[in-house]
Amino acid sequence: ALLVRQRMRSSGRWARTRALVKEFEEKCGTPEAKLKQIADAMTVEMHAGLASEGGSKLKMLISFVDNLPTGDEEGVFYALDLGGSNFRVLRVELGGRKRGVVHQEFAEASIPPALMSASSDALFDYIAEKLAEFVADEERIYEQPSGKERELGFTFSFPVMQNSINSGTLIRWTKGFSIDDAVGQDVVAELTKALKRKGVDMRVAALINDTIGTLAGGRHSDPDVTMAVILGTGSNAAYVERAQAIPKWHGPLPKSGEMAINMEWGNFRSSHLPLTEYDYAMDTESLNPGEQIFEKLISGMYLGEILRRVLLSLAEEVWFFGDEIPAKLKIPYILRTPEMSAMHQDISSDLKVVDEKLKSILEISHTSLKKRRVVIELCNIIATRGARLAAAGILGVLKKTGKDTGKGNGEKTMIAMDGGLYEHYTEYRKCLENTVFELLGDTTKSSVVFEHFNDGSGIGAALLAASHSLYLEETS
Ligand code: BGC
Ligand code: MG
Repeated sequence: ALLVRQRMRSSGRWARTRALVKEFEEKCGTPEAKLKQIADAMTVEMHAGLASEGGSKLKMLISFVDNLPTGDEEGVFYALDLGGSNFRVLRVELGGRKRGVVHQEFAEASIPPALMSASSDALFDYIAEKLAEFVADEERIYEQPSGKERELGFTFSFPVMQNSINSGTLIRWTKGFSIDDAVGQDVVAELTKALKRKGVDMRVAALINDTIGTLAGGRHSDPDVTMAVILGTGSNAAYVERAQAIPKWHGPLPKSGEMAINMEWGNFRSSHLPLTEYDYAMDTESLNPGEQIFEKLISGMYLGEILRRVLLSLAEEVWFFGDEIPAKLKIPYILRTPEMSAMHQDISSDLKVVDEKLKSILEISHTSLKKRRVVIELCNIIATRGARLAAAGILGVLKKTGKDTGKGNGEKTMIAMDGGLYEHYTEYRKCLENTVFELLGDTTKSSVVFEHFNDGSGIGAALLAASHSLYLEETS
């Protein structure tokens, strides 16, 4: 290798670099025609997933939420949001139609990485302890009406097969979690046992996915919300389906005639997806090989990792970072998407953010401006592919629900959006929204509206806890 390297003149290296970048860009291509094929494939899989359990890679999970919040919800409710590297506890005071969300406060804690692959008991004990602290703080601040149990909406952002609004078994972990003994368990039962062990007086009134929570939170502030998309560490979408369009639902027909569906679109897969050797390698070496392929192309946990892999191959093949391969560049997941986003959006003339990030994260110094530009180019290729694929997913859902045509009837479709990737990676967000409009064609541009509901899923969980609370059951 040394010999080869010495022979490779610098101009030759540069030509090879350009060729590699170009090849990568072509493999990541997402022309409109391809995106439409992907959207159609998404629609087809949605039908299949609704037809029968296991009918598709798209689980199309029934949420048991057949009524979204109306605004009448009243009282103090709690939410627990577990799904990424952090979890949050919220206390929400709902004041009914006139006053809406009167007050909310939350506490946030990060999940110690070791707990993400330990045991179910260890994870839920940790969460219950944090809940106990939250409750203790609350008791210091507020006077709790005595005798009324605290009711909790539990947002659990992983695929769950629900048996009712407040029970359901974990199908599998995604993102960075892999706690084997929790798979197949009822997560509400697990949490309830931990709450008991830690002496916390709370009852889970609703178990929901974060997409369902965002849908509920979004609907609460805008009646035109019929769909929610999360683009964060992971990715997923939920929407309101006609109950009669769900052949696999054998329960009673809901009065509303509707049912919110948690698609689990992260597990979508299609031969039309533009996968590269980097994606295959990342998937093989991941905690969940062969699963969540769509998620691995579009979500925050993976974009930075794809970039790292491409940079590593440039370092190995054309000595992009000099004579030695930077050791840090070999560490999986060291390059995180927020850092990639910061580099991508570096507008300084000498690209000092790129320089600074390469130094601080990868210990690579003295990169030329030309090379920093290549780094940005790669960020752009990877983010653009992700954002455009996510847009194709959204088009698929709009098609399934007949909301892709607009027909100029003034009907508005609001999409409730949340997740750190959507919130913070501006280039990604702009590309996603523009692509949806591009795919819909100009005529419908104004009928689809994106709205960011920051922590919609937390409020949504509290709202759903309210509408499914024991108190309501007893008094109605
Ligand atoms: C999970 C979904 C979740 C999404 C966003 C995915 O990895 O499977 O349940 O909604 O991440 O948090
Ligand atoms: Mg979240």
